Amino acid sequence: MTITEVINTENSNLFNTINVVEEKTMSGNESRIQAIHQITNRETMSVKTPKPLDKIWATDVFNLAKMEESLSKTAFKAMKNTVKTGAPLDAATAEVVAAAMKEWALSKGVKFFSHIFYPMTNITAEKHDGFIISDSEGKAITEFSSSLLIKGEPDGSSFPNGSIRMTNAARGYTAWDPTSPVYIMHTDNGSTLMIPSVFMSWTGEALDKKIPLLRSIDAMNKAGNKVLSLMGETEIAPLNSSCGAEQEYFLVDSNFANSRPDLLLAGRTLFGASPAKGQQFDDHYFGTIPARVQVFMQDYEDQLYRLGIPAKTHHNEVAPGQFEIAPYFEAANIAADHQQLMMTLMRATAKKHGFLCLLHEKPFAGINGSGKHVNWSVGNATQGNLLDPGKTPHDNLNFLLFCGAVIRGVHKYGPLLRAVIASAANDHRLGANEAPPAILSVYLGDQLEKVFQDIKDGKITSSQSGGTMDLGLSQILNFERDPGDRNRTSPFAFTGNRFEFRAVGSSQSVSGPLVAMNTMLADSLSWIADKLEAELKKGTKQPDAVVAVLKELMDLHGNVIFGGDGYSSEWHEKAVSERGLQNIPTTADALPALREDYIKTLFESTGVLSPIELASRYEVYAEQYILSIEVEAKLVIDMAKTLIYPAAIGYLAELSITNSSMAEMGIELDNSVAKKVAEESNAMIAAIAKLSEAIEKHDFATMEEHMQFCANVILILMSKVRLHADILETEVADELWPLPKYQEMLFIK
Ligand code: ADP
Ligand code: MG
Repeated sequence: MTITEVINTENSNLFNTINVVEEKTMSGNESRIQAIHQITNRETMSVKTPKPLDKIWATDVFNLAKMEESLSKTAFKAMKNTVKTGAPLDAATAEVVAAAMKEWALSKGVKFFSHIFYPMTNITAEKHDGFIISDSEGKAITEFSSSLLIKGEPDGSSFPNGSIRMTNAARGYTAWDPTSPVYIMHTDNGSTLMIPSVFMSWTGEALDKKIPLLRSIDAMNKAGNKVLSLMGETEIAPLNSSCGAEQEYFLVDSNFANSRPDLLLAGRTLFGASPAKGQQFDDHYFGTIPARVQVFMQDYEDQLYRLGIPAKTHHNEVAPGQFEIAPYFEAANIAADHQQLMMTLMRATAKKHGFLCLLHEKPFAGINGSGKHVNWSVGNATQGNLLDPGKTPHDNLNFLLFCGAVIRGVHKYGPLLRAVIASAANDHRLGANEAPPAILSVYLGDQLEKVFQDIKDGKITSSQSGGTMDLGLSQILNFERDPGDRNRTSPFAFTGNRFEFRAVGSSQSVSGPLVAMNTMLADSLSWIADKLEAELKKGTKQPDAVVAVLKELMDLHGNVIFGGDGYSSEWHEKAVSERGLQNIPTTADALPALREDYIKTLFESTGVLSPIELASRYEVYAEQYILSIEVEAKLVIDMAKTLIYPAAIGYLAELSITNSSMAEMGIELDNSVAKKVAEESNAMIAAIAKLSEAIEKHDFATMEEHMQFCANVILILMSKVRLHADILETEVADELWPLPKYQEMLFIK
């Protein structure tokens, strides 16, 4: 009986059967058998009685409500103004806030605090300090002044800095971002007061993902304000961008994960034959959530609620073992901090529940990968959501201008949008007929596409409506249909009152994409403001001036609008040959955009990144790409040599013993399987030799050359090793196979 049969035989006594298999094969696939054994006999995690939402909501956050309780009226007013508008905070208020924060944290049993910051990786960094100091008599007292709150100094120069800091010039600073609330992070090892912070070099250059995000919001606010003033708005509150990120992820039982060095170290399977059943039946999407996963989700979401993170939806995703969670949208800076926290907590909570949480963009070949749709909009307290068209977009001029700015931005800065989502992992997903193509186009939907087409033709007359959805069933109430359908093949789609950047990878920080979107918007709004100003100065009436500006914009950039099937090969060809858009398949091709002059100018003119900061980012991301491929290549070699080859040879040995004893009895066995195993083993060894040689090459003139080598030589050689290994998986006796198989990891929960 094969292992799969064991699992699938519902009435079999699993325990006994596994014991029998185990005795027979202790050497070959011990850990794999053990894993199935452990999972089958796992005790179910008990579901804790859920606490009511109002008892847990934001209990671990020092938010405005808590400040109001503990601060004087004047201090609270100053702090509230800073949180709402980003206005600077005076030293006296900072002192009072620090004291209140400390009291609150100590009252909750917290002994440590930490600036949490967001280096140029996709993970967070923190350095913990105790509130405690001892006085001259050796008594313990607690201390937390505003200077400790405002500034931290993480030692070491070990964070990626892209040559900005010499190894011997290690000083870096973290500084409190008062617009993102502090919170308490509980772990089994204690609780810490976490202070969201920016991170910079001694020379003041941004070394993190938060500084450019804050600057990009600022730039967008300024440019947007100018446009709105020209449109005659007199009261204009500060503009901010919003972000709602849908996070996809896989859960794999940790017993399996522990037997897969590739999952543990690279976050994806580097080997694995396709299972007989994958996702062909589309029976997982929105299906019933497995009980064990539901227990995990509830535990996870309760923690999110305590941290004031508005988890809103969760469901099964397309692939077996894949799920999604989406919080309600928030201001971009807060959403970005929350998104990081969600990824950290997701991994930690999954571990507690006996799962490995995979945030990798493509953990399993041939199975859907994971993305992170970043829903993004821009608005303020006075004009509302500026990307909300209302029912009659054709006469909503503010909307048309802001939407036009997005169209121009995606067209002009498409390669930048591609660069900020570029990673070795996301390359496996983009364009793989399941995720958006690596061509940046904009989907508007029927209604808006027509409005912008009309503008291009020099007129705006009316907007078609979605009409009513009438099913002809008396028991189902009629409802208003959306004026446009959804298009899931588009990388950048309008979805009613926001854009959805669908090409972002599941493990990525949302900051990079938000910075790119805010900055391109700032640039486009400035362009629009200049043109509009000139038109109005000429004496053109406001609506006609808007149409004139947008007509010019559409003539220059309308080519980026595409409503068809983004997966089709026809589009891939047409986009490039007829529309002049770029298809940028790999990170090696995408990252060099960061070195282009027009991108440098964009960031410098908006004040978001200086040329030095931009150059350092290019270097850091290029290095990360190269390193992650090199690590994977080494793993491929290691696993193929020490796990897969021995299994193949072991099987050959078994076959040859059986063959000889059969021959003694005068029975001749078919030897085609043995031949095939021998051939594939030899071919795999030859492929390993080539890959080993390739990773020894280090003499590259530029990082670009090195990245191209990774994309076009190393990755190809890795896939050759995998090809033979995966064939071996289908030939070698199941009981000898050392690695948990796809069907086991994806279907056993
Ligand atoms: P779908 O799967 O249909 O794309 P979801 O409901 O899973 O949609 O997620 C949509 C996301 O978009 C949510 O996080 C939601 O809060 C967010 N969102 C809604 N309105 C806005 C907005 N104005 N700005 C940014 N995000 C928004
Ligand atoms: Mg979505």
